[in-house]
Amino acid sequence: MATHEGSGMFIRVEVGEPLASDAESAKRLAGICPVDIFAAAPEGVGIVDENLDECILCGLCLAVGPAGAVRIIKLYDNNAPLEA
Ligand code: SF4
Repeated sequence: MATHEGSGMFIRVEVGEPLASDAESAKRLAGICPVDIFAAAPEGVGIVDENLDECILCGLCLAVGPAGAVRIIKLYDNNAPLEA
């Protein structure tokens, strides 16, 4: 949970800086994801690896921070990024 990116079987989540190390953004992400893929860790955004494949592709996390700060990569779809 300490890193700002993680891969499951179906998706990869990437959170870029400076958002990744921002405590407020971490709290927003932790609150917005319906399947708890994000966690507010002391160093910023944590990724809960065991929940990654529960992603429902809702796109809510993409709206936290500037465009491209959070990326959901669909590993099952030739690494296509989820569009907002
Ligand atoms: S797309 Fe939805 S379910 Fe997937 S990580 Fe983002 S907020 Fe969570």
